[in-house]
Amino acid sequence: MTRIHLSDLKKAGGAFKLYCFQAELNHIGLYSPRNGNALMDVCLEAAYIRSRAIVKGSWKVSLEGDCSRCLDPVTFGLESNIYEEFRHLGESGEPQDYVAVPGEDEDQFVFSGEMLELSEYLRQSFIMSEPLKILCREDCRGLCTVCGKNKNKVSCSCDEAVIDPRWAQLQKIR
Ligand SMILES: [Zn+2]
Ligand SMILES: [Zn+2]
Repeated sequence: MTRIHLSDLKKAGGAFKLYCFQAELNHIGLYSPRNGNALMDVCLEAAYIRSRAIVKGSWKVSLEGDCSRCLDPVTFGLESNIYEEFRHLGESGEPQDYVAVPGEDEDQFVFSGEMLELSEYLRQSFIMSEPLKILCREDCRGLCTVCGKNKNKVSCSCDEAVIDPRWAQLQKIR
């Protein structure tokens, strides 16, 4: 459940209400063969104030990936804060996903209908917080460029000085 009923918020009369739920990644549009079934833990407070749904809280999820240096499987956590104001366009109309429209200085989320659907917001928040690089540990030594062994696990005696084959010929001449 990634939806908030506005009627609940209106009943609260501007006070924040707590919502905690889990969302499967593929249910919020994050398709991944490996992590699609991972559950995003979301806890947020929401209030309806002057035609705006204000949402604040955080989410976290545990994911599987491959270390970008040694290619070993890694489990890592991802989390982010949530803070957004969704401008409500009106009561009428079918419930629909909100869309981001270019505002004066930044994109703003707007929605119509009696339901605030958060999956698109969560999807974007997830993408923003994805790491550029996954490492099994900060000082991962990676794979040997010569024999391909995992240098965290074995020490090989390869000479990893990168020698271009053309230069190697010249070295022989010298
Ligand atoms: Zn590694
Ligand atoms: Zn080696």
